[in-house]
Amino acid sequence: MIPKHCSIINNKRNCLNVPSYIVSVKVDNEDYMIGVVCSIHKDIMEKLLKVKYVSVDFEPLHYIATKCALESMNKV
Ligand SMILES: [Zn+2]
Repeated sequence: MIPKHCSIINNKRNCLNVPSYIVSVKVDNEDYMIGVVCSIHKDIMEKLLKVKYVSVDFEPLHYIATKCALESMNKV
């Protein structure tokens, strides 16, 4: 399951923004999903990860669940 909030912790407080990207890194040719990030923190996350990992990937999240919920609501 995808976390409901951005994975960034700022001043010991979790960012409560809705995530916009799935963050994954490549280690030994294997992709590892390491968290999710909101659009505001994407650049920060990228900078932090680029120090440690060669390949960092941000996959945009499409709000499938939300869209489905809205569509089913419209049908009622
Ligand atoms: Zn955030």
